[in-house]
Amino acid sequence: MLDLCHLEKVKKRRGKVVCACPACRETGGDREGEHLAVFDSGAFHCAVDASEAHRKRIFELAGVRSSAPPSIVRRPVAAKPLIHPAPHRLRLPKLRSLNVAEMARIAEQRGWPLFVGMELLSGRGLLWHGRVWDGGAEHDAWIVTDSARRNAQARRMDGLPWKCGKAKTLPGSLAAWPVGLEESRDYPHVMLCEGGPDFLAALLVAWWHGYAATLAPVAILGAGLSIPGGALHYFAGKEITLCQHADTAHTKGQDAAQRWAAQLRGAGAASVQFADFARARAIADGRPCKDLADFAATLRAPMSE
Ligand SMILES: [Zn+2]
Repeated sequence: MLDLCHLEKVKKRRGKVVCACPACRETGGDREGEHLAVFDSGAFHCAVDASEAHRKRIFELAGVRSSAPPSIVRRPVAAKPLIHPAPHRLRLPKLRSLNVAEMARIAEQRGWPLFVGMELLSGRGLLWHGRVWDGGAEHDAWIVTDSARRNAQARRMDGLPWKCGKAKTLPGSLAAWPVGLEESRDYPHVMLCEGGPDFLAALLVAWWHGYAATLAPVAILGAGLSIPGGALHYFAGKEITLCQHADTAHTKGQDAAQRWAAQLRGAGAASVQFADFARARAIADGRPCKDLADFAATLRAPMSE
């Protein structure tokens, strides 16, 4: 698979993107950026050079290197004081990266035009596949967790609920701990998301608008939660976009966003702004979007052929 962040002149077309071929470009070709097609399946090909050597070079220049899950067991360092509290005993199933078919399936369930957001999230070590036990059977699930391994939440790949509801917090999790904090350190802009689906959509929306390279998604996996005091320092100096959910009878999305905004300002965030999705209309039925995941389904290439 190719890392779309490394490609230039990216244009979205139905079911694929067209962009500059990095291998042609390095020898002065493809100035218009029309040679390379990257399909939703992950397949790619250069329109002017289909040779294996050329494919290999494209991958060298723009390929995603497969990343192994970060080690859960950390070697204790005797002389150094621990900066963070010791990790809880989070119990995770065996994790692997989602494959292309699985990402395409999730995108289809959600109505998203591409799965590039999940590809990027997976590349940052924040999205995984695992088999999760529930109701007497194991189920394929997508799992959001990060290198700190303090919190992990699973949803079923088939879109059906667990016995406990749509999302299952895995045993040993600190449920309030935001996912993606360590990974956000080097990014100036944080998109603070409520729940797993918005977290999956964040980098798709960011990529679509051309700022995925400077943005870190961070997830709070439940509207009822406050940000733990020990997590607040990660937000100091950051430009933060809060993806608030529209209120429904069951959730208090705006209450949550206001509470988090106050916490983030207190923590020294450079700026806190709200993304308001209710002004966008869902394509399917014209209703106002209720969250970022809904909004991602409104993204459509302006020039689909
Ligand atoms: Zn080429």
